[in-house]
Formats: sequence, structure tokens, C-alpha cells
Amino acid sequence: MDFSLNEDQVAFKNAAIEFAGRELNEGAKQRERDREFNQAGWDKCARFGIQGLTLPQRYGGLEMDVLTSIAAMEGMGYACSDSGLLFSLNSHIWTCEMPILKFGTDVQKDKYLTGLANGSLKGGHAMTEPNFGSDAFGIKCKAVKKGNSYVLNGTKTFITNAPLADILLVFAVTDTSNKFSGLSVFLVEKSFPGFSIGTCEELMGLRTCPIGEVLLQECEVPEENRLGNEGAGAAIFNSEMEYERSCLFATHVGAMEKILEECIDYAKNREQFGKPIGSNQSISHKIADMKVRVELSRLILYKAAWMKAQGKRAPIESAMAKLYISESYVQNCLDAIQIHGGYGYSTELDFERHLRDSVAGRIYSGTSEIQRNIIAQFLGI
Ligand SMILES: Cc1cc2nc3c(=O)[nH]c(=O)nc-3n(C[C@H](O)[C@H](O)[C@H](O)COP(=O)(O)OP(=O)(O)OC[C@H]3O[C@@H](n4cnc5c(N)ncnc54)[C@H](O)[C@@H]3O)c2cc1C
Repeated sequence: MDFSLNEDQVAFKNAAIEFAGRELNEGAKQRERDREFNQAGWDKCARFGIQGLTLPQRYGGLEMDVLTSIAAMEGMGYACSDSGLLFSLNSHIWTCEMPILKFGTDVQKDKYLTGLANGSLKGGHAMTEPNFGSDAFGIKCKAVKKGNSYVLNGTKTFITNAPLADILLVFAVTDTSNKFSGLSVFLVEKSFPGFSIGTCEELMGLRTCPIGEVLLQECEVPEENRLGNEGAGAAIFNSEMEYERSCLFATHVGAMEKILEECIDYAKNREQFGKPIGSNQSISHKIADMKVRVELSRLILYKAAWMKAQGKRAPIESAMAKLYISESYVQNCLDAIQIHGGYGYSTELDFERHLRDSVAGRIYSGTSEIQRNIIAQFLGI
């Protein structure tokens, strides 16, 4: 196995770092306070090619392989301090574009992928309901076939991008007799009658990312907007989750690298008792542990992404990647705050914002507990 990046991949990652640092950070702190989505940044990302990273050139995408896309997103995570924008982009790419690319008909791809690639459309996916989060396949949103349409009724909650989305993959029950094969997925446009947005969530972190409720009340969806076969919803969800759990966390690895560099710099330059704080073993060992977490996170991320690039299933690898990276990000944020003392706790620096953002990573895409359940199941326990 060789997970090293080739020259082109390194150059593209560096281009993403340079682009994000130059174009996406201005006003980020104020937008965070105001919970404001960075539409101008979204448009710039589209022009750079982020929304089209993984999509074929015929839809205006860059047609990058998974590993190159991950490298670029790692660069974005390193240089962009607007983590809400990054989260929004991640959701758009991994939970909307990829499933359409993988499971869509030619008509569906032609209809949606060009707009998603050039950023004129925003996407996401809607599985979670008020009473069904971890128990995703227990959802109650119903889709009933009527002529050439399905009529959807239900409420989805915590849906990333929902308040701004043009199109969402909505998971609904088409057959109540079987939990797994009773689910189907629909490409629901915001203009469909019966589709509306409910409450927008006020979350602890990721504040520049719009996240909210989706209300489906007698929402009519044409049959040609069903993604995959009737009953394929759970299988599509599992496939989508493998991409999300492998790839979304690239931005976290980039962020962790940046935090580590800042801690090393501070440990060398901040003096107390007449010597750099880094000369205390309690600080240098903390930094050593942070470095180990960054390196292991990158390795497990690249391994899972490499498996996806080979067209392989990676259910346990993506669960391990998701679990390890998200937990490591939280721990490295806590360590960074401790190393920076009072300044670390201040909103002047970015570590408290990172910490608030990082905690969400333990919850979305399946909680840490659910990832442990998946890993244990694969071990036959
Ligand atoms: C920032 C953010 C963005 C999100 N974006 C989306 C989105 O775009 N689309 C979408 O569909 N959803 C989204 N979600 C929802 C997310 O997927 C759910 O919050 C998550 O799956 C957990 O569900 P829950 O919140 O209902 O918690 P619950 O399932 O009620 O869990 C509560 C606690 O119990 C634990 N628990 C539950 N069952 C078990 C078990 N069997 N074994 C051990 N522990 C268990 C959980 O780990 C957790 O600690 C998002 C959430 C957040 C925070």
C-alpha cells in the first residue's frame, strides 16, 4: 500500500491551501458571531472547482479521484477558518453529489449534476427525524405511490444546508413490513409543493452553516425523482455513509495540522519562569501526542479513501476513520487551549471555535458510540 501523494496531488493540495487562505477567511469571525453563511465564499469555491472535485468533466467537474479530492479538502481544512462553509461543502459533495453520481439515472445526472458542480445548486441529505437519529432505519417519514408520483409526509431535523438547499436526498418508508428494504430515497426540490423549511437550529458550533428542519406535508415527488430502486434507500444510505465517514473528515485532519503548528510555535516562543513553556515535559509531551493523533488520523483517512478509490467497500475502515479523527480533533483542541492558557480560552484565538466545531464531529454521520457498535459488529461481537 502506498498512500503518498504524487507531485500533482501535492500541487493541487497546495493550490487549495493558497486559495482558501487568500479568499475565504476575511470576515469569518464576524460571520460566526452573526451565524451568517458565506455565499461569496461558496461562489469562489465553485469557481476554484471544489463543488465539482469528484464529478465528471461532462458535468463541469474536475473529475479528481477520491484521494486527490481528499488532499484538496485537507488543504481547505488547513487554511480556511470558516468551518461552517467547509461543512456545508462537505455535505453538498459527499451526501448529495456522490449518491446521485453513483445511483442516479442519466436523466437525473444531467438534470442536477451540472448545477451542483458549478455551485448554482446546493444539496444535502435528509435522514434524521425528531424521534429517529441513531436508529436511522426506524424513520417514519412515509412515501406513498399515487399514479406517477410519490406523496411524502414527515419531518426531518438537523439537516445540513436545508435552509438554503435547492435539492435534498430525502429518505422515506415505502414498505412498512421491512425496516431495511422498506426505505427509498427521493430527490426532492425545494420548489415541490408541500416542501418547506421549519426551525433553523442554533448550534454550539458550525455556526456559519445553515442547518434546519425539513417539513414534508403531502409533498408530491415525481416517480422519476426516486434515486435507485424502490427499497434501495438503506443500501444507498450505507454506501453514502462510507464516503462521508471516509472523506468528510479530511477537513478535520487539515485543521488539526494547522492547530499543531500553532502549538509548536507557541511552545517555543511563550516564556514563563524565564524559559519557553515547551521546555516543560508536560507541554512537549502534549504536543508529541497531538502529532501522533494527526499522523494516525491522516493514515486512517488515506487508507479509507484509498479503498473507496479502488471501488472497494470500506464499512469498518470508514467507521474507524470517522471515530478516530473526530475524537482526535476534540482532544487536540482541548490540548491546544491548555497549551495557550488564558489566551487559548479567549475568542481572540481560534481554538475555542475549533473546539465547538469539533464536538459536532462526534455526533453527525453517526455518533462515536454507533461507530464503536459498527466496529464491534464487524468483529463478530
Ligand atoms: C451538526 C450536525 C449536522 C447534521 N446533519 C445532518 C444531515 O445533514 N442529515 C441528517 O439526516 N442528519 C444530520 N444530523 C443528525 C445526526 O445524524 C444525528 O444527530 C445523529 O445520528 C444522532 O442522532 P440523535 O441526535 O437523534 O441522537 P440519539 O440517536 O437519540 O442518541 C443519543 C445518545 O444515545 C447514544 N445511542 C443511541 N443509540 C445507541 C446504541 N444503540 N448504542 C450506544 N449508544 C447509543 C448516541 O450515541 C448518543 O450519545 C446532523 C447532526 C448535527 C449535530
